[in-house]
Amino acid sequence: MTFRALIVGWTLALLAVISPAVKGADVTVGTATAPVGERANGFIQVPAGVDAATNIPVIVIQGAKAGPRLALVAGSHGTEYASIIALEKLAWSVSPAELSGTLVIVPLINLASFAQKVPHLNPVDGKNMNRMYPGNPNGTQTERASWAIGRQVVEPSDYLIDLHGGDLDENLRRYSYWPQTGNDKLDATSRAMVMAFGLDHIVIQRNQAPPMPAAAPISRFSVDLGKPTVIAEAGHAGATEAEDVDVLVQGSENVMRYLKMLPGEVSPVEHPVWIGPITTVQSDHDGIFYPLVVPEAYVQQGMRIGYITDYFGNKLVDVIAPVSGVVVYVCSVPSMKKGDTAAYIGEIASAP
Ligand SMILES: [Zn+2]
Repeated sequence: MTFRALIVGWTLALLAVISPAVKGADVTVGTATAPVGERANGFIQVPAGVDAATNIPVIVIQGAKAGPRLALVAGSHGTEYASIIALEKLAWSVSPAELSGTLVIVPLINLASFAQKVPHLNPVDGKNMNRMYPGNPNGTQTERASWAIGRQVVEPSDYLIDLHGGDLDENLRRYSYWPQTGNDKLDATSRAMVMAFGLDHIVIQRNQAPPMPAAAPISRFSVDLGKPTVIAEAGHAGATEAEDVDVLVQGSENVMRYLKMLPGEVSPVEHPVWIGPITTVQSDHDGIFYPLVVPEAYVQQGMRIGYITDYFGNKLVDVIAPVSGVVVYVCSVPSMKKGDTAAYIGEIASAP
């Protein structure tokens, strides 16, 4: 061996010690950087613009083994508490050592809604944080946050799970959505994910029409980018019942097993109730709402599902089911304004 060859040999040996070969790259989302086999917490920073800044918490878990990137988001409606708690719990239940691929978990998109207990909207700008994608870097806080989440969370991911639940005023039956786009390959993967998730009522969400400009939910934004997506809902009226939280955690883990990110077998739901179009039953009066049905009730077109009185108890109107189907959610509080949603009724569909 020449002296030169010896030097080269030592150098290579030294390099091998310093940088153990083919170690995967760090994954960074916002201020969170997770090396291989580790988790990291941080924030997606949304700088101040026409209104206040916000910092959206993000947890990145990079598995010890290579695999896809799955984004899980919740809390775009900040008082759908069961879904938020589910992701808080999931983030601690997954061990990086047994994970293949990367989880990007955003458990609470709408911090102001959560902190101020304001349902449906972001109180900073009065906008729905699940209706503004792709967002706008120069818009109001909801639009800037949607822009940041779209770029930093959805675009770099391979799959998306978006969790929701009954809001403060919503009594809801657990269900999931299967977004149907007309792209067979994409739809087949989303369908397999929703079956793996395991909820036994699945709404077929037809996404063929062009989206409203700058008014898409995150799930629509995601499937338009070709990323298989599932939306799941559990929990109601501000409650965080263990059963609702667990069903969302276990459903998410089952999707991860289906994607081969976690070891173990999946038992997909076998005979779900498929739900087609959903009809929103709106109130045409201000007053006090008395529901006569519970979620999961099957109602016939023309059936009374509740009634509204004035503030003296005089009945103003019956609330009538405009279609036959299953009640997927009914207003859980007596407060009722003209234009508010009294119930969602889903029409039963044949299995797609
Ligand atoms: Zn929601």
